[in-house]
Amino acid sequence: HLQFADSLSRLGTESAFTVLARAQSLAAQGRDIINLGIGQPDFRTPDHIVEAGIKALRDGHHGYTPANGLPALRHAVATDLHRRHGVEVDPETVVIVPGGKPTMFFAMLMFGQPGREILYPDPGFPIYESAIRYSGATPVPIPLEERTGFAFEADRVLERITDRTSLIVLNSPANPTGGVTPRAEISRLVKGLAAFPRVAVLSDEIYSSMLYGGREHVSLLQYPDIRDRLIVLDGWSKTYAMTGWRIGYAVWPDAALDHVTRLCINDHSCVNAAAQHAALAALTGPQDAVAAMVAEFDRRRAHVVRELNALPGVRCPDPGGAFYAFPNIEGTGMRAAEAQDLFLEEAGVATIAGTAFGARGEGYLRLSYASSTETLTEAIARIRAVL
Ligand code: PLP
Repeated sequence: HLQFADSLSRLGTESAFTVLARAQSLAAQGRDIINLGIGQPDFRTPDHIVEAGIKALRDGHHGYTPANGLPALRHAVATDLHRRHGVEVDPETVVIVPGGKPTMFFAMLMFGQPGREILYPDPGFPIYESAIRYSGATPVPIPLEERTGFAFEADRVLERITDRTSLIVLNSPANPTGGVTPRAEISRLVKGLAAFPRVAVLSDEIYSSMLYGGREHVSLLQYPDIRDRLIVLDGWSKTYAMTGWRIGYAVWPDAALDHVTRLCINDHSCVNAAAQHAALAALTGPQDAVAAMVAEFDRRRAHVVRELNALPGVRCPDPGGAFYAFPNIEGTGMRAAEAQDLFLEEAGVATIAGTAFGARGEGYLRLSYASSTETLTEAIARIRAVL
């Protein structure tokens, strides 16, 4: 009989967590389950980062920090963005938050309200659409297609902008497809955006360190023309295998800084101080663990794509980044949800139906290759047996 707010009915979820729960319950019944559903590195956080977190606790960093994050950490983020993308970033515009997701939610709350439209990728990370709906804005999907490797196409973005559009969400490298948008297309998009100066852009670059096959990461920060309306989301979760530490950051346009600071103060006060010290060690310490992890993902990627393409009725494009394969399974005659259920129940392999990422994900499955090569081989062998 409780009087829950109507707005809650508009909030979606992330199926990866539902599939994880189902996989865990099957495992608890004694089933041997391989989980390729969840999107997190299977590596431990590198030791020197863990030690920095422990040291921070021992040294007494137990209190609040400034709401936007430790000044040294915001400075280290700016230095890291200069090192990786060759761009100047004012540390004052860097805001540390508990993960990648809060930036997303804050951006939607900041720009979304009834009567507004927000563009987002389909297939894409499910929280985009959920948070847009929660804000009251209308979600407008930008279709991404297998024939382009699921890259954004400038024209398809620009033609969806109306006088109600307040924000566009971009994501490259992308979840769930591993799609990478080439520089030429991003340049074309930025050029076209000059005609819409009141439209803000949220570029989700959480997979910015995970590119393969000689591909480069193109950060939207490299385009000065849109810096006054650009939010770039990135963080430590994927790059440093720190999903459970709950820390991330974004670079915000000057005009949004007061708003985001108030959202932080209202929501979480500040990020866990020890996690901030650990994140600082991640940026200022050796980067070889990142390179080793990316090289390992690249080997697995080649392996998984080859194995998937050898399955009857399956076609798997080459993912250029992140750590997901997004095979087309139309040739099996199954719908995405059917295949997800069959592979979990009969093969004991958890994958995620493409439809969890939008209507255009029908006919696809997402498999995370953040598992050992032996586990991946076993998983695909079990899927082959069921097919
Ligand atoms: N953005 C994308 C595209 C993601 O895939 C994820 C996590 O899966 C996130 C953001 C959120 O990351 P975090 O765990 O740091 O909140």
